[in-house]
Amino acid sequence: MYYKRYTGKLLPQKTAEQPRWVQWTHHSEGKTHCEECLMLDGCFFMASNHPPYPHHPFCHCTLEPVDYAVVLINASAYSDYRKFDPYLFNTTGLQTHNKEKLFKEWGYTIDDARWLQAEIERQARERYVSGQYELGKLNMFGQRINIRVTIPKKDGFGDVSFVTGWMVKPNGQIKLNTPYGGK
Ligand SMILES: [Zn+2]
Repeated sequence: MYYKRYTGKLLPQKTAEQPRWVQWTHHSEGKTHCEECLMLDGCFFMASNHPPYPHHPFCHCTLEPVDYAVVLINASAYSDYRKFDPYLFNTTGLQTHNKEKLFKEWGYTIDDARWLQAEIERQARERYVSGQYELGKLNMFGQRINIRVTIPKKDGFGDVSFVTGWMVKPNGQIKLNTPYGGK
């Protein structure tokens, strides 16, 4: 049996364009350390949306390419439950932010806190790896990013979306700063 041999030019393999990501990398080498650069060390950002670089005169940091597969494997969003209870739902009555009232309008109470935490983490991770984040303030505590999330109104009419605040941590981690940072 003969198989027809393909003699034409090999076509370039069709691969979907992979998003380009970088890892902020701080190099010590006995040089002066910038506190902000130290906080950025190891953090992943989209190549088109990273903190201003170089960060300061004589910044020795580099932006190393990170394979998108590595971003996907490592990315995770985590939060302290206390950001929801007592903070967001004001279960101690000590908060004056009134955020619990907004959530109540949308049908959410303390009984939904665990669900809300998991859902906010899930959406934030998804948006982060999709590059759907906005850079916020950077200081000695680290680089903040804002991520919009959407939840259904529990009375059944439509959705509500709001901004959540995160701190970028090394190796694809993001940690929740504020579960409701504004609409
Ligand atoms: Zn630097």
